[in-house]
Amino acid sequence: MEDKVFCILSLGSNMGDRKQTLEDAVAAIAANPEICNLKCASFYETEPVGYEDQPWFMNTCVSFETTLEPLELLDFTQSIEQDFHRERKIHWGPRTLDIDIIIYGDLEMDTKRLTIPHPRYRERAFVLAPMSELTEIDAEIPEDKAIRRIDG
Ligand code: ADP
Ligand code: MG
Repeated sequence: MEDKVFCILSLGSNMGDRKQTLEDAVAAIAANPEICNLKCASFYETEPVGYEDQPWFMNTCVSFETTLEPLELLDFTQSIEQDFHRERKIHWGPRTLDIDIIIYGDLEMDTKRLTIPHPRYRERAFVLAPMSELTEIDAEIPEDKAIRRIDG
């Protein structure tokens, strides 16, 4: 048996039907046969960080166990991002989706393609608030940005 590693991903969307995009992305992640025991946090509406002249985001986090190696997991999450960046003329038009790998077990790595743990997650309420529903967090949730949990 290969070892399974506990992971946290952060998901965000600020274009099109944000909630539907997040739900579809979570379903696509859960459908991977190398991912099991997936749990999804609540969705949050969050004020943009960094470049602020853009619509508010909807964010969540998922936790799961996986047999995927870190770079395989990045390939997989980037393929899902690609699916949602594609223009879908029939349904909702352009959508954006960002998926970041926050933690991968207790692995620490810093390469050109992948830095784990994600270098900025402890500064981001939009990561820490949903993440705290899934696991213990090792940082205070910052209060510099507005963030609102969505019910249901
Ligand atoms: P950002 O998430 O910073 O807004 P992108 O989603 O476009 O920007 O990611 C840019 C690059 O970040 C990706 O091509 C990827 O190789 C790299 N990257 C480094 N560490 C991580 C990580 N922990 N999770 C996701 N992407 C990462
Ligand atoms: Mg990203």
